[in-house]
Amino acid sequence: MTKTNQKYDAVALFSAGLDSLLAAKVIMAQGLSVKCLHFTSPFFGKPDKVAHWRDIYGLDIEAVDIGDAYVKMMLAGPKYGFGKYFNPCVDCKIIMLSHARRMMEHYGAKFIITGEVIGQRPMSQRRDAMNSVRNESETKDILLRPLCAKRLDPTPMEESGLVDRERLHGIGGRGRNDQLAMAKEFGITEIPTPGGGCLLTEPASARRYGPVFEHIDNPSANDFHLANSGRQLWAGTHWLSMGRNEASNNALTRLARKDDLLFDVQDFPGPLGLGRQIGDDWPDSAVAEAAALVASYSPKAVKSAEPVIVIVTHKGAQRTVTVEPSRTPSMGWAETTWNDSKPTRNRMDTQDR
Ligand code: SF4
Repeated sequence: MTKTNQKYDAVALFSAGLDSLLAAKVIMAQGLSVKCLHFTSPFFGKPDKVAHWRDIYGLDIEAVDIGDAYVKMMLAGPKYGFGKYFNPCVDCKIIMLSHARRMMEHYGAKFIITGEVIGQRPMSQRRDAMNSVRNESETKDILLRPLCAKRLDPTPMEESGLVDRERLHGIGGRGRNDQLAMAKEFGITEIPTPGGGCLLTEPASARRYGPVFEHIDNPSANDFHLANSGRQLWAGTHWLSMGRNEASNNALTRLARKDDLLFDVQDFPGPLGLGRQIGDDWPDSAVAEAAALVASYSPKAVKSAEPVIVIVTHKGAQRTVTVEPSRTPSMGWAETTWNDSKPTRNRMDTQDR
């Protein structure tokens, strides 16, 4: 949390989607000050874009990392269950609002706003789900939803005159026309695209999370950041990540922990490999197979048609292994599909709460 002496009237959940942007603007148009909180985790949030959004939208935004708390919530089994993939949308809103509530005092805020629109999303924006979110996050008297407020009972903020109910809105349903008209009125020219890019709702990303939940007793946010990075191969509890390009190689370097194994092909350009050991140290045979796999993604190493040397770094010490580049090792390394991850999601969805 940034140090601040500045006080605000409200804090806002700011996903950077159009609705959350408009909700902040509607309240600011009443002369009230708003601190926008952009929550981040391995699954959502773009902290590197906050400065750009501040500039183009004229909002006071802070990125807040809730990754580890979020992973714990998932592990405990979300009370309101998962959506189609690994998205626990109702519990997600609850955890964000609870967090915002705890941050209010720091910002001197009197209430919280969200960009929720009743009926817009099947899981988390039905009236009953919105009531559960409000009650479970203990924000009953301090939560204002400016875009659909006129479809809801007046809040204490409206009753006290702090917020003018007449200047709030009564939007409902899945259309975007009302929001686009409002964006025009506010002079917003860079309109965010619908859908916040939450990786938990995308099968191509969600498929990466099943084995992490399945094989690691207490996974951390770092584990899921790793699962997002580059190519992911699993052989039982052996987990190998490989960069696909410079960005994912850099991500692996950043995420590496001391007890990880790092694989780097000597003399040829190629991906960085990161073996995350779950439980016991890998046997030499697994290290050699992983080295052969990493080498197989170096086209020049493969083209050399010679055994290649792979440097393996572990706990600060280096050794070399000489391998034939190979994608057909015996341990059965493979990328997981959503169908592989689904049973884990279903088990977590029904575990005792
Ligand atoms: S889509 Fe993702 S970020 Fe949005 S409410 Fe659902 S889980 Fe949370």
